Amino acid sequence: MRRSKFLVTSNKEIQISVAKCGPIGNNAGFIENAKRREAVLIDAPFGAFEASKNILSPEAKVVAILFTHGHWDHMGDGNMFKNSGTQTYAHRLDKLFIEHPELVTMLAGSYSSLIPCKIDFEVEDNDAININGWLEVFCRWIPGHAAGDLAFYIKSLGCVFTGDTLFKGNIGRSDLPGGNESLLISGVKEKLLTLPQDTVVIPGHGSFTTISKEKNSNPYLN
Ligand SMILES: [Zn+2]
Ligand SMILES: [Zn+2]
Repeated sequence: MRRSKFLVTSNKEIQISVAKCGPIGNNAGFIENAKRREAVLIDAPFGAFEASKNILSPEAKVVAILFTHGHWDHMGDGNMFKNSGTQTYAHRLDKLFIEHPELVTMLAGSYSSLIPCKIDFEVEDNDAININGWLEVFCRWIPGHAAGDLAFYIKSLGCVFTGDTLFKGNIGRSDLPGGNESLLISGVKEKLLTLPQDTVVIPGHGSFTTISKEKNSNPYLN
């Protein structure tokens, strides 16, 4: 596990840190309110549970996992958090794959030992998730990589978690079941590129970027 730098935000009480986890370098995003001893996790790849012990303050609890989508590499440790009482959120169309991972093991290769993770809350486009009064997360449904892909925009922290929809200089692959390239590109343009230009983009894999950089130089969007 490698922890990337803390993002600097204007909010001193809430910190974001990202751990690189799992066999294909997934970003697990931890948003922690140290005062409340609570954290929210964006995606739960293999290794995220172990990483949480190093990253979070002692006694901090992951109160919620927000799944960007139901691909195997984003959910391997979901059940480990669930067993300690974490509440889980996912889009209706990908909930099935997180609760029944045997349906996605065909994509998982040797990582076929996925354990089901129950989803407590189905999320729809434009939902706002409020985490115990200290964090508001705006949900944007962007299908085309997976059918139930969500981006999570956190206005108060100036960042958006894009899962496998938008990467630095790239977009998600659309050749998997549920994929559709033109739908993905139009969704990214309408629902991500319209965010404030200095919004930090934290993708499901790879380096951080910003909305303005992608708007100006991402070859798939120009
Ligand atoms: Zn994916
Ligand atoms: Zn992925």
